[in-house]
Amino acid sequence: MKEARLFANVLIANRGEIACRIIATARRMGLKTIALHTPTDRGALFTRLADETVETPSYLDAAAIVTAAKAAGAQALHPGYGFLSENADFAEYCALEGIAFVGPSPEAMRAMGLKSTAKALMARAGAPVLPGYHGDNQTPKFLKERAYQVGYPVLIKAIAGGGGRGIRRVDNHVEFENALESAQREAQAAFGDGRVLIEKLILSPRHIEVQVFGDSHGNVVHLYERDCSLQRRRQKLIEESPAPGLPAPTRRAMTDAAVMAAKSVGYVGAGTVEFIVDASKGLGRDCFFFLEMNTRLQVEHPVTEALLGLDLVEWQLRVAAGEKLPLTQEEIVPHGAAVEARVNAEDPETGFLPSPGRLRVLRLEGVRVDSGVEEGDEISPHYDSLIAKLIAHADTRDEALAKLDAALARAVALGPKTNIAFLRALISAPEFQAGLHDTGFIDAHLEQLGATPQPPDACAALAGLAALLPQVLPAPAPAADGDPWSVTDAFELLGPRRLPFEARVNGKAERFVAIAHAGGQEIAFADRRAAPAAAIPPTVLAVEDGVLVMNGGRQTHVAAALLDEGDGSQASASDGAVTAPMHGRLIALDVGDGDEVQPGQRLAVLEAMKMEHALTAPRGGRVTLAGCKVGDIVEMGAVILRVGERP
Ligand code: ADP
Ligand code: ADP
Ligand code: MG
Repeated sequence: MKEARLFANVLIANRGEIACRIIATARRMGLKTIALHTPTDRGALFTRLADETVETPSYLDAAAIVTAAKAAGAQALHPGYGFLSENADFAEYCALEGIAFVGPSPEAMRAMGLKSTAKALMARAGAPVLPGYHGDNQTPKFLKERAYQVGYPVLIKAIAGGGGRGIRRVDNHVEFENALESAQREAQAAFGDGRVLIEKLILSPRHIEVQVFGDSHGNVVHLYERDCSLQRRRQKLIEESPAPGLPAPTRRAMTDAAVMAAKSVGYVGAGTVEFIVDASKGLGRDCFFFLEMNTRLQVEHPVTEALLGLDLVEWQLRVAAGEKLPLTQEEIVPHGAAVEARVNAEDPETGFLPSPGRLRVLRLEGVRVDSGVEEGDEISPHYDSLIAKLIAHADTRDEALAKLDAALARAVALGPKTNIAFLRALISAPEFQAGLHDTGFIDAHLEQLGATPQPPDACAALAGLAALLPQVLPAPAPAADGDPWSVTDAFELLGPRRLPFEARVNGKAERFVAIAHAGGQEIAFADRRAAPAAAIPPTVLAVEDGVLVMNGGRQTHVAAALLDEGDGSQASASDGAVTAPMHGRLIALDVGDGDEVQPGQRLAVLEAMKMEHALTAPRGGRVTLAGCKVGDIVEMGAVILRVGERP
């Protein structure tokens, strides 16, 4: 019996969505599931789903994790992605303690772990790599000379980087030193390794990667490609397969190169070989270049699963137990098209600021949904902002996109702000539909995609006020004293009676009228603005201070009672306070007490949920620090410093 050789249990050294994903497969295969979690994640969905739980101070504490795994009697350990999943020392440590690490050998991880050594290896093996420098010399002067030789624009990249971090674009030599310093700082903070490489920047790039799989019997197959060109700040948002417009000979050359890369390091398990494709020269077979190999399962693996009808976590567990790959290359046949969208707790209208908090309502359906949270759960500010991945599959790309769009149109998420409306705008963008986009598409089309401050949603405002109406304006009662409807001077003498009132929509005061007529009551804008009809009825939820309304993927807050004038935002603008726009860690402070600054000058950098946010001077003047130091965790709204008015 094949099953007899599999593990009795598996410990998942990860959290959230991927932990839930692994638990589902392990359970189906009859393995006992052990969830490892931090104190912050006590009671999180993945811990509720698991058969057993064990605690660790951090997902990055290798020693504590291995000790906990041993104590729990874990036979196998699945690292998920992120955290320690690509840490060769950790894999080695597990092996030493007799725990099967679900992933490649430490040697393969080391060979591919750094972008620099991986590029050198691939270049020797004959795979196309971009011009650049990926050697040991890290002196700024030398690196700058190399950038000049490669020719601007170039990218500076952290060799230990991942998740789009530690990368800086440099367009000319005057920017080089600053960009280098900031790339090194970010790399040191995020990966504990400040070393960088220099690479030619491709101006019209598509990101196309190939999923590969190896077993311990020397077999390596590819599982076709994923196009992940829709990115924001070099992080993937929408991924799909097949890559639109990819000619068969190029696909062949790319999958061959990927299999060769995996074979060159004796790869076992799931891995992804990432390529950058120069779309300005078409998608010919000489236009792709090796970027890096991720020696783990990828966030976007469900795209491949949908395309091929496979379970990659099952393959991982079987291969880790020493079994052969379940299918040969010829037996792996793609069907139709698959596309995935990442629903994040972030606000596209305010520069994608992370928006943690309790998910008061969460309804996602109609397609495959991979999530680590349920309605009522908290999106923690301590980890990344992913709420769920929605994966659609159909016979054609157009149908898959339509299916995904329909699911997003019906999605309801209230509490944290989400990118649902933004994802819908992306999917319906003509350039994306035609497959003509590149990785710069989002940044170049923020306005078209609605990722700029938008006027309040009129339809949501009216829907919210309709729900609040009984609270603010008691229903017309037969001339009871104190009833607003009996205040005659507020009404027209003939026809429907109209009562003007004010409400706050997303914190901003607006004038409305309540209209009472024979058929009942309704609410309209006082300026007679008409609200467009909603395609799908808005969802309204009562909260402590008003209502939250979800309409067309956007969330609107409506409060009928007028709040005090001069609330926090006004005050901070006038006293020059620079406050934290979200809960996060202060990772740079560019100014000292008493420094003179110019309006718009960068003062500090805050990091939260894998994102960096620059805080800039609201006006020119002299700085007074408020006592925060680099490394401090600051709460949303905390004053970091003040810029005093020029005398
Ligand atoms: P991919 O290339 O597959 O998109 P990323 O490198 O962006 O992978 O990261 C993979 C995942 O790992 C993230 O979506 C997140 O779940 C997790 N992750 C990575 N880094 C961190 C981090 N610093 N903190 C929390 N989670 C992280
Ligand atoms: P990470 O480890 O952070 O995923 P990658 O090297 O894979 O780093 O690059 C992340 C993203 O940055 C790519 O998906 C692509 O959008 C962009 N990128 C990387 N290298 C280049 C390049 N040479 N030219 C243009 N864009 C690039
Ligand atoms: Mg990458």
